[in-house]
Amino acid sequence: MSKVKNLIVGCGFSGATLARKIVQERKEKVVIIDIKDHIAGNCYDYRDNNGICIHKYGTHIFHTNLKPVWDFVSRFTKWYPYQHKVKGLVGGQLVPIPFNLNSLHQVFPKSLANEIELCLLEKFGFNKKVPILELRKTNDKDLTFLAEYIYQKIFLEYTLKQWGMKPEDMDPAVSGRVPIYISRDDRYFQDKYQGIPIEGYTGLVLKMLDHPNIEIKLSTVFSKEMEYERLFYSGPIDEFFEYKLGELPYRSIKLDFLEFPYSKFQEAAVINYPCNYDFTRIGEYKWFLNNKSDKTVVSYEYPEEFKIGKNERYYPIVKEESQTLYNKYLELAKGTPNIYFLGRLGDYKYYDMDKAVERAFNLFEEI
Ligand code: UDP
Repeated sequence: MSKVKNLIVGCGFSGATLARKIVQERKEKVVIIDIKDHIAGNCYDYRDNNGICIHKYGTHIFHTNLKPVWDFVSRFTKWYPYQHKVKGLVGGQLVPIPFNLNSLHQVFPKSLANEIELCLLEKFGFNKKVPILELRKTNDKDLTFLAEYIYQKIFLEYTLKQWGMKPEDMDPAVSGRVPIYISRDDRYFQDKYQGIPIEGYTGLVLKMLDHPNIEIKLSTVFSKEMEYERLFYSGPIDEFFEYKLGELPYRSIKLDFLEFPYSKFQEAAVINYPCNYDFTRIGEYKWFLNNKSDKTVVSYEYPEEFKIGKNERYYPIVKEESQTLYNKYLELAKGTPNIYFLGRLGDYKYYDMDKAVERAFNLFEEI
């Protein structure tokens, strides 16, 4: 490969956003490579032979309150106005997750639920979101009872399966992603902008990369021999430095896809199984774009440890030790000119898709 002006490693949301910004606003050329044989990173999706759009790496729902991000991605897709709802198997029933006032009234007898609801409204107020680790700190008897119930039935075992750790041993932001919601709104997200790209995430990213000054090279491993003026690396930062300070830990997921010969498998797009089974949740794909078929496809998610060469990186493990190691890599990066890291793997951050786009915007402003 001859010397390129901008080499971007990784064709996910991060790399694709940056590529588009560079060609469009700086009028420079970009070569974007990916080790995978497809674009869109872990957001990659495809239509199966039943016409159902399958998310190869598990269910993805785009949601954001960031108008600039929404406006940008909306240039490359139209949206199916999907609003995500999740249920969890709690005490033998399927109840709305995040746990909300509807869940409360489903799991407890009326008088008890009413009493707890009043306490919640008095202590926090209507429409407030309370992370489980916060709710556990209250000393009111009803709220302590509720906190223990939710902790045991929704968070503890799910988190042990997902991370191999208890919620309190992790960054509070992780369990805080799914707070108790003092509301009757059963949606998983309340963001202003939500949806599924009509042509899928792959279609969206393909449009983003569809520009005469962007060259895409798939199934291409980054090598130090490649010549560039600037490198933007959205792969794993530890891998870039040949693990010289040690490996950054990640969680992975094994997805078991199953097809059933009937039109619907479950009563929500995603059902969580916090306390039962070894999997954490089951996603049913036809919900996202309302695909019609007399068959249905679901995925069972089995979290597992990430091991190089065995599986894919899904989630950085946000803990003090790993953050310290990441910071050391960042120091190394500072001594390496014209190299910028971004994305879940490059920044070692649990970004949602919108935050990955925002990060790429911010990096673009820096260069
Ligand atoms: N979580 C949980 N029980 C649930 C849902 C979530 O314990 O029913 C915790 C768990 O630790 C999980 C975190 O909340 O990793 C964040 O959940 P989210 O659904 O945001 O995870 P993602 O969709 O990113 O995998």
